Amino acid sequence: MIYDCIVIGMGISGISAAIYLKNGGLNILMLEKEAPGGLLNKINKINNYPGYAETTGPELSYKVFESVEALEIPYKLEEVVDISLADNLKIVKTNKDTYKTKYIVIASGRNPRKLNIENEKELTGKGVSTCAICDGSLYKGQDIAIVGGGNSALEEAIYLSKLVNKIYLIHRRDTFRAEQSLVNKVKKQANIEILYNSNVTKINSTNDILESIEVNNERTITVKGLFVYVGFESNTGYLKNLNITNESGNILVNAEGETQVDGIYAAGDAIQKDLYQLVTGASEGAIAAVNIIKDINQKENA
Ligand SMILES: Cc1cc2nc3c(=O)[nH]c(=O)nc-3n(C[C@H](O)[C@H](O)[C@H](O)COP(=O)(O)OP(=O)(O)OC[C@H]3O[C@@H](n4cnc5c(N)ncnc54)[C@H](O)[C@@H]3O)c2cc1C
Repeated sequence: MIYDCIVIGMGISGISAAIYLKNGGLNILMLEKEAPGGLLNKINKINNYPGYAETTGPELSYKVFESVEALEIPYKLEEVVDISLADNLKIVKTNKDTYKTKYIVIASGRNPRKLNIENEKELTGKGVSTCAICDGSLYKGQDIAIVGGGNSALEEAIYLSKLVNKIYLIHRRDTFRAEQSLVNKVKKQANIEILYNSNVTKINSTNDILESIEVNNERTITVKGLFVYVGFESNTGYLKNLNITNESGNILVNAEGETQVDGIYAAGDAIQKDLYQLVTGASEGAIAAVNIIKDINQKENA
């Protein structure tokens, strides 16, 4: 079978694209390597998405997935490992199968960046985490550290401060990048100690369980958990053959959401842009989808 369009990634951007494509009458397939909802499943509180004065990531994820079910949008839980071009078609290879399609929307998001220090990889899931909502409850009443100075780090610090005994918030600069309202909240929280101009230089463990961290190679702090929020890197390694990313790995698109490869569009956190948020992801998914439908109509009428 040849699909009209394959959407890669079932986060808010991919699902938004799929809604418009399906409503436009196209024969589509969504491919997702983990779980529908994407990053939403890992976010605690959301208070800037229209229609929801306050909600949680998993709640919104469920609502977004309801659209997939209501519209009977076909999807498969498979990881895309390669995309190639052949005879005006795109060949999408997953870990399980190979599919042919006329158009693609890439909406595969980004991955949390690592500190790249010794033991980090080995202790991921054994004290090191990038998901407060997934792992926070493991550290109830204990001391933890959070690394980062942007919105994600501070939002998650506020969330975790209600669960844990004490948080060391470790930031490499002397001011935060996060929104001022978050900075104010963090500063008011009695159990958050901020360490400015600081870097985690070592992670110590006993029997493969995180025990303490070293800061600036001079201070050892005993913590049970280390949450890392130091930005993201694009999840676009599988696109290497297409040459559609910049030096940071982000996909470059025009105002229509199209990459420099005819018929391949992209949306959401995977693209190069200024604002990495739910509303922008949803709108870019819609824009890509509507332009695919326009392109199909123009070609049919030509
Ligand atoms: C801690 C935190 C808090 C945040 N809080 C807010 C907030 O309050 N408000 C707000 O607007 N935004 C917030 N954001 C940002 C927002 O979550 C993202 O901008 C948005 O979720 C991105 O959606 P997306 O669909 O582009 O990507 P994602 O949600 O990351 O979805 C991408 C999907 O693609 C899948 N995928 C990846 N590679 C492949 C592959 N090779 N094959 C198949 N599937 C693949 C992934 O598994 C994933 O499901 C927050 C982000 C973080 C990290």
